[in-house]
Amino acid sequence: MGQREIAERMLEAWQRLASVEFDLLCCAAEIDDPHEIALLLRIPLGRARRLQEQAAALDRLPVLAGLLRDGLLDLERFEVVRKRTENLDSEKARRVDARLADAAELNSRELKAEADRLICLVDPFGAEIRHVKAVKRSEVRYRSMPDGMAELTAYLDAVRGRQLFDQINADAETLDDDRSWGEKQADVVVDRMLGSGRPVTVCTDVTVSATTLLGLTSEPGYVAGVGPVEANTAREIASQGDWRKVLTDKVGMPIGVGRRRYRPPRALRDFVMVRDRVCQAPGCMRPVGECQIDHARGFASGGVTDERNLGPFCDVHHYLKTIGRYRFSRGADGVRRWVTPLGFEYETRAKAIAEPDPP
Ligand SMILES: [Zn+2]
Repeated sequence: MGQREIAERMLEAWQRLASVEFDLLCCAAEIDDPHEIALLLRIPLGRARRLQEQAAALDRLPVLAGLLRDGLLDLERFEVVRKRTENLDSEKARRVDARLADAAELNSRELKAEADRLICLVDPFGAEIRHVKAVKRSEVRYRSMPDGMAELTAYLDAVRGRQLFDQINADAETLDDDRSWGEKQADVVVDRMLGSGRPVTVCTDVTVSATTLLGLTSEPGYVAGVGPVEANTAREIASQGDWRKVLTDKVGMPIGVGRRRYRPPRALRDFVMVRDRVCQAPGCMRPVGECQIDHARGFASGGVTDERNLGPFCDVHHYLKTIGRYRFSRGADGVRRWVTPLGFEYETRAKAIAEPDPP
């Protein structure tokens, strides 16, 4: 059997698995006692309870439940949305669900970002309350590790966390020696906290619709490297100095990037970065700041340097494309086509940033 046939068989098995998981949840919905389930299936009680919670979510998320039943969405992705919508009331959960009809096309990370965006949209006030509560649980933890090492982790506001992470990386990039990348990052943290750090300022993008910026609507914004944030946070960040603000047009695509100076090549680059935000390979969520802007149709083969032919690729996908293992093209309509070595085709397009105006 060739690789292509095996790949098709694998996809089929994956889809059957999702359907079977749907059947399993339907049964779990009918069994009242989680202990029965735990015993029957030889699973821990906690897992049995989760099965019941997932079963209960079939009613709350009917569109996703249908995709699971049809084998188009696996349980892991269903769980991503269930977990994120569990604190919403049923009506709001249904509104999020109703707008996830294309969930089958998204991987779990993309689905997470899209669910977060929709939750901010249908429940901006609730999102804020949940965030304020979560901030109260912020903490920094220390855990000792073998070989004289330790792990220091911080649970904190996502935007602040991203700023911190970008700052650490920007500082580490200024270190020109043979320490490993991770070692440089760790040394930067130590230097910054315990003295002798060299200050480097990083600039990150926040994208927000003009109406939200003015307080007329409450659409979620988008922070590069973080994902969707609720309207108030987006407004707050946009009002600070080190962030670059981006406004969007009626269909939610960027119309321009706010900058103090105007330089065409740089402006074009900025536009592409803001429009795509992540690597343009399907399912890749690597932020554009870690990508290189590349021609879809090579410059040497007649490709032009304009916004339609340019897009970001992370190192991995840039390499796969350059060595010709994966073929990539970009249509005039902005649709990006990625063809794998086994001949599977995937199409993506840049996601709108803001909600389109109602017709
Ligand atoms: Zn990529």
